[in-house]
Amino acid sequence: MYKRHYHSRNNRGANNKRINNASQVVSAIRAIKSLPKESISDDSDKFIPLNEFKDFAISDRLKLNIQNKRYELPTPIQDKAIPSILDGRDIIGIANTGTGKTAAFLIPLIEKVSRDPSQKVIIILPTRELADQTSDELYGFTYGTPVSWTVCVGGKNMVKQINDLEKGPNFVIGTPGRLLDLSKKGFLNLREFGNVVLDEADRMVDMGFIRDIRYFIANLPKDRQSLFFSATIPPKVGEILKNFVSDPVTISVKKSDAISNIDHELINVNNKAAKFKKLSDLLRRDELEKVLIFGRTKWGVQKLSNELYKKGFNTGAIHGNKNQSQRQRVLDDFKAGRIRIMIATDVLSRGIDVDDISHVINYDLPGSYEDYIHRIGRTGRAKKNGVALTFVEN
Ligand code: AMP
Repeated sequence: MYKRHYHSRNNRGANNKRINNASQVVSAIRAIKSLPKESISDDSDKFIPLNEFKDFAISDRLKLNIQNKRYELPTPIQDKAIPSILDGRDIIGIANTGTGKTAAFLIPLIEKVSRDPSQKVIIILPTRELADQTSDELYGFTYGTPVSWTVCVGGKNMVKQINDLEKGPNFVIGTPGRLLDLSKKGFLNLREFGNVVLDEADRMVDMGFIRDIRYFIANLPKDRQSLFFSATIPPKVGEILKNFVSDPVTISVKKSDAISNIDHELINVNNKAAKFKKLSDLLRRDELEKVLIFGRTKWGVQKLSNELYKKGFNTGAIHGNKNQSQRQRVLDDFKAGRIRIMIATDVLSRGIDVDDISHVINYDLPGSYEDYIHRIGRTGRAKKNGVALTFVEN
């Protein structure tokens, strides 16, 4: 159901848009490339937070758990969002992955739930991978506390999810399709959730979930704390936003944060064969230590992975034709360094949180400038330098 929904609403339109956008994307990349480094680098290296974690009005246990995760200082979005959320304010966070946005909402919500265990939180996000990562973070932050949660995503056993929901967890983390199903079948009572997070809202809209989101908003309690995160606010997302938050604090982590320490290169090739040859040559270089390659279609991604594998490269692919456990295995192997090269589609790359990616390669052009920013945000994280290489077929 989830898949049909996505294909029918999204694919055709996206392809047309892609053709129109190709030259715009290339010009945008040329533009960032030509900027002097200083003008795209922000002050994130020099960013001095107003708060340390110890200054926040949160429990000692939570502070200890943060310390055990080796977070030294709040990131910019955490510095601003945590005190506002603790004050009960609604938030609009304009931020990409890699900015620490997940902890920015989890830390204050865990505190809220710990103080008042009758509080319930629902976190709605676009992909299973992002749900798992959010759950992992929650695990670290709630160590030694009675806070409970469950993950409700498509492709996983619904009976188990129903049983878990019956236990009344403090946090429910899920993807729109499955949450909608559970709600319509009467297993998830949205009225119980006085705290709601919409994470990566732009991506959910891209994936065709706008109607589901409208349903959630209509069925959640009017009196609630609403936290909204999105890397971009195109018009449809803006429309959701209007009905979702009230008197919000807006925190924008500038786009340039994600690109300040990344080198951008365009690689012109004449045809497909030349492109593949160039890619193979590049991948033989030692400095391409950990590489994430983006392709446009699931078939293309699998084909490229097979071809590289035949050439002796250590690769793995993640895309929508693989099931959850196959994708997780590839992701784990990539994280652990057992495979050096991972190839992914845009949708499946959401929420990939892997440190130390040295190079992002856009084997196929991204569909829009926003997608470019999302893709390249996977490298150059945690102040390390990264390289984004983009193939352009002439
Ligand atoms: P996110 O933007 O939520 O996807 O987080 C990106 C990565 O940064 C995750 O691996 C987090 O565990 C990590 N992270 C988040 N906040 C901090 C912090 N204050 N210090 C160090 N790492 C952090």
